[in-house]
Amino acid sequence: MTETIPVAVPGPFTDPLDYLPPGTGTPPLPGTRVRVPLGRRQVVGIVTGPPRPATVAGTRLKRIQDVLDASPLLGDSLRNLIHWAAGYYHHPIGECFATALPTRLRQGREAVVSGRRKALVAGNAEHPVPELNSEQRAASSAIAIQQGHAVILIEGVTGSGKTEVYLDAIHRALAVGLQVLVIVPEIGLTPQLVQRFQQRLAGNMAVLHSGLSDSQRLNAWLAAANGEADVIIGTRSAIFVPLARPGLIVVDEEHDPSLKQQEGFRYSARDLAVYRGHQLDLPVVLGSATPSLESLANAESGRYQTVRLTQRAGGAAPPRLRLMDMRGQPTIEGLSEPLIRTVREHLEADGQVLLFLNRRGYAPTLICHECGWIAECDRCDARYTYHRGRSRLHCHHCDRETGVPRACPECGSVDLRPLGLGTERVESTLQTLLPDTPLIRIDRDSTRRRGEFERQMASALSGESRLLLGTQMLAKGHHLPAVTLVAVIDADQGLFGADFRAPERLAQLVIQVAGRAGRAERPGEVVIQTHQPEHPLLQTLIHGGYPAFAEVALAERQAAGLPPARSMALLRAEAPGKAAPQAFLQAALAVMPAQTSVEALGPYPAPMERRAGRYRAQLMLQADHRPALQRLLSCWLPAIGALPEARRARWSVDVDPAETL
Ligand code: ADP
Ligand code: ZN
Ligand code: ZN
Repeated sequence: MTETIPVAVPGPFTDPLDYLPPGTGTPPLPGTRVRVPLGRRQVVGIVTGPPRPATVAGTRLKRIQDVLDASPLLGDSLRNLIHWAAGYYHHPIGECFATALPTRLRQGREAVVSGRRKALVAGNAEHPVPELNSEQRAASSAIAIQQGHAVILIEGVTGSGKTEVYLDAIHRALAVGLQVLVIVPEIGLTPQLVQRFQQRLAGNMAVLHSGLSDSQRLNAWLAAANGEADVIIGTRSAIFVPLARPGLIVVDEEHDPSLKQQEGFRYSARDLAVYRGHQLDLPVVLGSATPSLESLANAESGRYQTVRLTQRAGGAAPPRLRLMDMRGQPTIEGLSEPLIRTVREHLEADGQVLLFLNRRGYAPTLICHECGWIAECDRCDARYTYHRGRSRLHCHHCDRETGVPRACPECGSVDLRPLGLGTERVESTLQTLLPDTPLIRIDRDSTRRRGEFERQMASALSGESRLLLGTQMLAKGHHLPAVTLVAVIDADQGLFGADFRAPERLAQLVIQVAGRAGRAERPGEVVIQTHQPEHPLLQTLIHGGYPAFAEVALAERQAAGLPPARSMALLRAEAPGKAAPQAFLQAALAVMPAQTSVEALGPYPAPMERRAGRYRAQLMLQADHRPALQRLLSCWLPAIGALPEARRARWSVDVDPAETL
């Protein structure tokens, strides 16, 4: 009887493909890379299982050409994780395996340390360990090493010492010879964090993020796999790193949207962390000052254990939040006079001031004052953002850039005016109002050059800059102990977002940015400019803090039948023409199995219908129970892929979407 070997190959295949074993030698073990023919090409694939009886006629089968590894690269549990993720997110198996491998290994290079750059940072544990307060001690003891699986949600106000709790638990894991995997959001993986770990832990650390060279990534990956690395800190994709002796997984800022991949293989590193912890029977820590509603719901239902840190560590007082009613106030370029006064007071009292505006560029709109023409991206249903410094119009959705027209293309008027506020504009206003105050602007434009973000953060931390202005880059995770005033310049833009998660994101951002204030001995003040001071969301947030907000928001999701009360998936389609995506989704709907409790909404055009020159539509799927949605997708998607309409649109499925735009 002919036997074949299942191999996950790059391409749109749901399952591994079958190949004949190589002509000579023993069949390669699962987890080994092989070179196989695919169409006219040779590709690198991964063996996913033991040999099995052939299901197709022998003559049509192709043979494995080469075995690339002497021993398996991926162990049983990691392969199981990848299989599970491929099934849950309904993504082609080969691409899921590819995500789990560093580029070099994907290319078929040898799995050995390459280059001279060392992958490991040696910890020195030189810095003194602060004595944990009673809440921190309780949180840390909830994280039991070698006692089996549990998910511990640490809900700790900003500055409450969550990182100290992680360090304490990590220390205990290392002491018994186990490895720890720490997942952080894109923006959270700073040299400061790595340095803090290094100063406090005796062990080798490997760092994994997208800014590394291919050989650095490979080396760090190998160090995790062979056990040389004791602590692995990485962004999203590090959730797939092999671990020789796993003991603990920590996901910091578990609410952060960057933990979910937004294209291709749309996995959530947080949710996979929970799965992996369950599979390996070890504790998983999820930490945040503003936990996702998903995690709070899991805590409420008893699936996660919650520990709270309600006090700021080191005796710092919590910041005072206050709404600043903008209605009828005199303003200068979006800054109300009371706000400007408050800023001056803090500066005069030697405080540091942080102004937060989550919009970069000079203005989100350029408008003709004569005829009302608006500069719009010709590839998106979106306006160009005006960048004055570079003198460009830039589309933040498709990245297209163009020069600023000298005159209105409609009426010829030269009176083109920027409308609305961006960080660049606030920067120039502040320079005029406070010409002698050192100011620093931190956003994606100002930090484009390598090392620039670090340099600017250093200047913020040293106190050299008295005024800090920035987007969410500035709002997240960094300790700015000298900041005494935080101002949210425009809360209104977040109140009316098109996505059902917009209020949650706004609340998280406001609380996170507020948490930068008064972290040390000086108490902090937080002011939020709004034209909607009576808005229930803002009122709840101001008076009850994030927990009160979350309670209301969860009740709203329950009432509206939205996640986490129900499970959701989006079927998305896009094409250069307007009709094809809708036609595809209609056809898909027509072949949707009838016996299902899953509810389908749509198809409807995406909130931003055209993006990067393509029309987009979606079908929203909702179910009371996750398994029902999963069962439906498993039997329905293959039928969808076979539709003739599927060839005329690019389509994808997004399980547990992070956004519905
Ligand atoms: P979080 O991660 O919750 O934002 P951190 O762990 O970074 O908080 O702690 C905030 C600040 O308080 C840090 O400067 C930290 O060194 C300090 N800190 C944390 N725990 C203690 C403690 N038990 N005693 C004294 N200082 C502490
Ligand atoms: Zn005009
Ligand atoms: Zn565009």
